[in-house]
Amino acid sequence: MKQKPGDKTERKKAPPRGAATGLRVALPTVRGAAPEASHFACRECPARCCRLPWGIRFGEEERERYLAEPFVIERAGPAGLEVLGRGMLPTRAEEGRLQCVFLDADELCSLQKRFGHEYLPRPCQAFPFGFVSAEDGATLAQLSQLCPSIRDDRGEPVGPELAAKLAQGGGATRMSQRMLTRAGVMLTRPQFLRVAERWSDALAEETSPAELLARLVDESVAFEEALVGGEHATDAAVEAALRTAEGSAPAAFAPRRRSSYQTRLLLAFLLGNLCFPSRLRQPNRVSPPVFLEGARALANKLVWLLERGSVDLLFLPKPIALGQVRKVPRFLGGEHGGLVRDYLRLVLARRQIFAEPRHLLAVLLDLCIGTVLVSRFARCRAVAFGRAAVDASDVREGIGVAELLLLHHAALSEQPGYMKRLRWLLLVTPEKLRGVLASEA
Ligand code: SF4
Repeated sequence: MKQKPGDKTERKKAPPRGAATGLRVALPTVRGAAPEASHFACRECPARCCRLPWGIRFGEEERERYLAEPFVIERAGPAGLEVLGRGMLPTRAEEGRLQCVFLDADELCSLQKRFGHEYLPRPCQAFPFGFVSAEDGATLAQLSQLCPSIRDDRGEPVGPELAAKLAQGGGATRMSQRMLTRAGVMLTRPQFLRVAERWSDALAEETSPAELLARLVDESVAFEEALVGGEHATDAAVEAALRTAEGSAPAAFAPRRRSSYQTRLLLAFLLGNLCFPSRLRQPNRVSPPVFLEGARALANKLVWLLERGSVDLLFLPKPIALGQVRKVPRFLGGEHGGLVRDYLRLVLARRQIFAEPRHLLAVLLDLCIGTVLVSRFARCRAVAFGRAAVDASDVREGIGVAELLLLHHAALSEQPGYMKRLRWLLLVTPEKLRGVLASEA
C-alpha cells in the first residue's frame, strides 16, 4: 500500500522478522530469474492500490483497535465506522473512482503517517506481496502484477524485503491437499500438480495461448474420462490417463468472428463491473450514490452484452466505443501472446490458484477466462490510446486487470450466483469454453 517516502529505507535497516526462523522464501518465475532479480519501490504511483474497487478486510484485533481510535472515528464518520465494524476499510467515490477514506490529498496514507506502517491492516502492509506454502515446504512469494512497480520491475531488489513482508501479511496461504475431477475422483496434491506440470509445459510452446488452452481443455476432458472408476486415483492410473489424454486428438479450433454469448456474459460481469459507475457499487463505500447509478450500472452490462455503445473502463484515460475494439486485431497468436503465456505459467508456478479444494478443471477455466480478460482489456486500452494495434504496455495492464478480477485478488467465494452458474456451465460444456477462447483467438 502507498507508503510514506523514507519508510522503506527505515524498514530495510531493521532485521527481517522472519529471518531468524531460517524461512526459505523463493520467488517462482517462468523466466528462470532469482527472487533478487525482481524489483519493487512504492513511489511514482498515484496510490493505485488505495483506489481500487475492492473491500480490504482485516481481523478482529485490528477492528477493535480502529473502532477505539479517536482519529479513525472522526475520519471515517458514522457510515465509515459501520463499515469498519464489518471488518472492511471504508471507501468513498472521488473523480469517478473509489478510494480509501484514509488516503490523503498528498497520495499518502493518513493512518501510516500518524501511527506507522505496523498500524495498517495486514493486507495493506503486505501489498503487493502475498505468500503461499508450496508442496516442498518452500514459501513462494506472489508479486501482484497489478502494482505498477512490480509490473514494470522498477525499484530495489525484492529479496531483502520478502521475510518482512511475509510477517506483515500474517504468514503464507496453504495449498489444497486435494482436487476433484468432475466425476468426483479425488486427486492428491502430487497428482494434480503432475497435471499442472503438463499444462505448464504445454504453455511453453510458441503458439497462441488461446489455441494451447483449447487443446488443454480437450486433453483434460480426455484425462478425466480415462480416470473414471473409483473415488481415489492411483499414481499409475494418473500417469496412464495423462498418456491417454496426450495421445487424444484435439477438436478443431478456429477463431470466432464475433464473441460467443458466454464470452459477452463473462465480460459484462467482469469488465462491466470495472466501468463507471458500476465500479462504485461496493459494500464498503460510504459516499452517496451518483445520479441514476443502478440504471447506469445495468446499462454497462447491456453495452458489454451487445458489444455496442461506450464504456468508461477503469485504468483507461477516456471512455471507449466497444465497436472500435472489434477493429483492433487480436494478438494472442503473435509476439505479445508470449507475454500472456509467460503470465499463465507464472500463475501455475506461484501455486495460489491451487489454494482451494475444487475441480481441477476449474483451475484451467480460470486460466482461460484470465487469458480472455487480458486480451480484451488490452484491445480496449489500445483504442483508448488511439493505437491501431495492441502493444506490450496494453498487455501488461491487461495482466494487472486479470490479477485484480480473477487470478490474484478476487475471492471466488464472493462471486454472485449467476457467475457461479456460468462457470459451471463452462465446466460441463467444454465446447462453450472453447467458444470463449475462440472469441479472442
Ligand atoms: S500500487 Fe504499488 S507502487 Fe502504487 S501505491 Fe500501491 S504498493 Fe505503492
